[in-house]
Amino acid sequence: MSGTLTDHGRRVHVRPARHTAPAQVTALQDALRQCRQLGQVAALRGNGCSSNGLSLSEGAIVDCRAFRSIQLDADSGELLVGGGTPIGELIEWLARHGYSLPVLPSNPSATLAGVLSAGGIGQTSVRHGPIAASVQGLTVVTPDLGEVVIDLARQPEWRLIFGSFGALGAIIQVRLRVQPGPQQFRLQTSEYGGVPMDEAIARLRAGSPDYVLALYDPKRQLWRVEKGHAQNAAPGAVPVDAAGALVPDIHRHVQQKEAAFLQRREAVFAAAPAGQLVNIWADFFVPVEQAGAFDAALAPAARMPLMMPVINVGLVEDAAADKFMDFPLLPVGRRAAYVSFGLYAVVGLADAERVERWFDALRETCLALGGRQYLHGAFPPHEAFLRRQFGDAAIDGLCALRRRVDRAALLKGLPTGPQRMASGQQRSEPLAPIAQLEQAADDHIGGA
Ligand SMILES: Cc1cc2nc3c(=O)[nH]c(=O)nc-3n(C[C@H](O)[C@H](O)[C@H](O)COP(=O)(O)OP(=O)(O)OC[C@H]3O[C@@H](n4cnc5c(N)ncnc54)[C@H](O)[C@@H]3O)c2cc1C
Repeated sequence: MSGTLTDHGRRVHVRPARHTAPAQVTALQDALRQCRQLGQVAALRGNGCSSNGLSLSEGAIVDCRAFRSIQLDADSGELLVGGGTPIGELIEWLARHGYSLPVLPSNPSATLAGVLSAGGIGQTSVRHGPIAASVQGLTVVTPDLGEVVIDLARQPEWRLIFGSFGALGAIIQVRLRVQPGPQQFRLQTSEYGGVPMDEAIARLRAGSPDYVLALYDPKRQLWRVEKGHAQNAAPGAVPVDAAGALVPDIHRHVQQKEAAFLQRREAVFAAAPAGQLVNIWADFFVPVEQAGAFDAALAPAARMPLMMPVINVGLVEDAAADKFMDFPLLPVGRRAAYVSFGLYAVVGLADAERVERWFDALRETCLALGGRQYLHGAFPPHEAFLRRQFGDAAIDGLCALRRRVDRAALLKGLPTGPQRMASGQQRSEPLAPIAQLEQAADDHIGGA
């Protein structure tokens, strides 16, 4: 394999010295051994849906998508899923075989290992916490210890793998606790505008939903909300709210919505000259009582040169926050309710730095309010930031485990130690006005 590679952000472009796609454990081990011999940093890669070069390296790129399989272990009732399996494929397998998982992310093409390496949160996390809570064990290939089979109950230090961004080894298999039956939900939709942030959040929480998908347009201060209640949450449970449309499988439903969104995004990119648009995005998790204060930091959104500005607002209620506490590198750091503000924007290359400075300010506000950033987008690539966000105990634990499995620090992962983010700048050229590009995208996909 050769050529230039980028990721969902399209801001970092690299021409890696080596690009391999091993399909067996031995080939994966060989690839890591070669990195050691050649002194190359290796970035593990799934489908490249993260941003800011997290899955990129100018040394080696180790594509893990060939570890793609799904198999039910009849003895344990657990699902064994290859790390390279796309989420969409997992959702379809579960639907076909009559099983489900409490939480899955919305992006159908992300791989399971990529999602778990980033964190793994979905619209039902409001009730169930992170996807990691369903993971019983993992098989990981590390540079120094080779293939390691991990039982998370017996080896809790490995819970640091969730949110480590490939720092501890390539996840080739995940052992998941699945439940019988689909995730049937009743959904209600609403739209409102001009409501103060605290009141909007109170409306989201009203009725204790098991599912929340809220899109907030900061330019027009408009909310489009979908809330749902599980119809099969527990055997014999009475539905909390029998009103609303019945959705037979919530994960399929969310995936379809995300696919439509991604189609629109592709059309925006297609309408611009090649290389002149980038994505800038980040999710900020803020304690629920600080949502109003965070809203003040969002005000510049109205003046920013953003295309497709969407703030995807999510919730994590107290009981769900409890489930995050086992996972020190995830964005919920206290046993308390949180609101997540997922900012996603398409930006002209020439405006990228300005927008990124605003994201820096949002991050500062988030941390000052007791929150954390979910790190699949832009964040400061150094250990000092990680220590500030996650605390010394978590980062010391990560560094200690890293020394055990990868003494030579071959794997890229979260930037502990010397800074090693991928570089690869582009020149910017004049771009058509934003409204014109958005209109072109609407024409292309019929305003979907
Ligand atoms: C449109 C969109 C919607 C999204 N929705 C959600 C969502 O609902 N919930 C959510 O949690 N996230 C969401 N994300 C973020 C996404 O899940 C993460 O960025 C995820 O990492 C992408 O998976 P990937 O396979 O593309 O990984 P990549 O982008 O290829 O890699 C991401 C990280 O994982 C590491 N990695 C990749 N494969 C392996 C492996 N086999 N073993 C160890 N490390 C590995 C890489 O080194 C890198 O650090 C979304 C992203 C997009 C673009």
